[in-house]
Amino acid sequence: MNIESLLIHGGVDGDKTTGAVSVPIYQTSTYKQSGLGENKGYEYSRTGNPTREALEKLIAELEEGKNGLAFASGMAAITAVLTLFKSGDKIIISDNVYGGTYRVLDKVFKNFDLNYELIDTSDLEKVESSITKEVKAIYIESPTNPLMDITDIKKISEIAKKNNLLTIVDNTFMTPYLQKPIELGADIVLHSATKYLGGHSDLVAGLVVVNDEKLAERLYFIQNSTGGVLGPFDSWLLIRGIKTLSVRMDRHLENAAYIAQFLNESPFVEKVYYPGLESHKGHEIQKKQARGYGAIISFVLKKDIDIKKFFKNLKLITFGESLGGVESLMCHPATMTHAAIPYEIRQKVGIVDNLARLSVGIENKEDLVKDLKKSMELSK
Ligand SMILES: *Cc1c(COP(=O)(O)O)cnc(C)c1O
Repeated sequence: MNIESLLIHGGVDGDKTTGAVSVPIYQTSTYKQSGLGENKGYEYSRTGNPTREALEKLIAELEEGKNGLAFASGMAAITAVLTLFKSGDKIIISDNVYGGTYRVLDKVFKNFDLNYELIDTSDLEKVESSITKEVKAIYIESPTNPLMDITDIKKISEIAKKNNLLTIVDNTFMTPYLQKPIELGADIVLHSATKYLGGHSDLVAGLVVVNDEKLAERLYFIQNSTGGVLGPFDSWLLIRGIKTLSVRMDRHLENAAYIAQFLNESPFVEKVYYPGLESHKGHEIQKKQARGYGAIISFVLKKDIDIKKFFKNLKLITFGESLGGVESLMCHPATMTHAAIPYEIRQKVGIVDNLARLSVGIENKEDLVKDLKKSMELSK
């Protein structure tokens, strides 16, 4: 089945008992057991819930992995994956990962002596030379947030395999519709399903997919033991959102290409970060490893534009955190999504104060360009 069909019919297709085309919301905490050790496969909803299970099967099929797991947020999913490691272990992470990922490693896991090293993972030699016997995994985002650096997932996976390390990919920006990390050799795929998979800015959720039964068993044990599971209603909402991913994503891509072009030619813009532009550093790798360039565009405004005014003057585009919803969202990485990253590191990696990040929605593209243009003109 092609992914457009799988998005709609994958996992558990409808309800076997009643024929309902929508998977029912099993809003229950527990299950009646007919006797000692006799049950219908469910005992308690932290351990298993049919609606959550339908979602978990669906994401596993979409990512072409063996097992899926659903969590209460992207951070809960990431935290669960990080607890696979032990004190003394070290993880190599992309140097401009999602701010929350950096924060949980730096402020929570460091207390347990689980260490990390920030590396530009698009530089394969740097990655290879940073591997010591403490390193147990390479954790990447591609494209990264917000500068859209591209890492060659296949090459990273090869380096990881050679050194007996796990490859973990946060696939939030791409979704399985555009990029399949497991096919490229990754062991674990992560999602903040809050973003494109949900797609409507109406829920917070996280997903994990693994390609190995043993790893799946360990993660399932962690999920049940630590308990950050996704509730039945949000699981259902996410299944609902996923059904329209292909049509939404097609429009996101069309709009993003159009807006990237506009920004690239605008006299008010200093620099545009979008993998779809031929001038973008990772353009060729992205073209090879994914089916599209995504719909997140970051850009640096020229010094004579007051970025505060620019944000205030936007009318159609919403100013706020998050991304991947049907509505276009603009944010200021330096003070919002990446505020947890120290100033010096931000400057070093290029998250400057005049940088804006746009999550291109599925509105009319001319309307979006008009809004950007007007707001820039008013903000000099
Ligand atoms: C938002 C986001 C997360 C965190 O997910 P939550 O659902 O907000 O907990 C992780 N990684 C990336 C790339 C994200 O954009």
